[in-house]
Amino acid sequence: MKDTLRHAGKRKQLVDVLIQKGIKDNAVLMAIGKIPRHLFMDSGFEDHAYQDKAFPIAADQTISQPYTVAFQSELLQVKRGDKVLEIGTGSGYQTAVLCELGAKVYSIERQKELFKKTKLFLSKLGYRPKHLSFGDGYKGLVEHAPYHSIIVTAGAPYVPKPLLSQLQIGGRLVIPVGDDPQIMTLFVRKSEKEFEKREFGEFRFVPLLEDKN
Ligand code: SAH
Repeated sequence: MKDTLRHAGKRKQLVDVLIQKGIKDNAVLMAIGKIPRHLFMDSGFEDHAYQDKAFPIAADQTISQPYTVAFQSELLQVKRGDKVLEIGTGSGYQTAVLCELGAKVYSIERQKELFKKTKLFLSKLGYRPKHLSFGDGYKGLVEHAPYHSIIVTAGAPYVPKPLLSQLQIGGRLVIPVGDDPQIMTLFVRKSEKEFEKREFGEFRFVPLLEDKN
């Protein structure tokens, strides 16, 4: 596993592209400027790693587009020490961004192959999420709730109720909702029963799958 000055230079260019596209959160930009995204992809595709594009990984899944990762991370407004739940660990790239932001990360993946591979890989890279779990993200992870924020990194046909109920008061859920494309949606929990909802335009994700374990 190699990370060179050439990779660092390409990362800097990617960060500039994200700034041009409107990403402002410095901590998010610094995380993306630091994480060796090329190592999260198969070695043959290294040259694509610092383009602002989604890319195929194992088990027919994708590593999200850097702009999407940055956009969702910015919406979460992570503070150091926050407990954050991620649905769809995938390659672990978004997990690594959350770790760089100082979050205590809990992440769920429903593809066994990816779960195993990414768990090993993140620890090799030195990232220490609090908990990686193999299971169904529609249910959230009630054992460790409530969370300061929850991020869903697959397209949800509807908003799963358990995710809303596992947010603490003031907590934020960032979730792409719909079939194709999805609408990036933010829910902020105002009280036990009240949620404020805001929408942020179209994005494209692989689907959040149900009942497939
Ligand atoms: N955050 C990832 C994005 C991966 S794509 C990254 O940066 O690489 C979305 C991921 O969600 C896939 O790995 C897919 O297997 C996973 N997924 C789909 N449905 C799920 C479910 N119900 N529960 C948990 N993970 C799910």
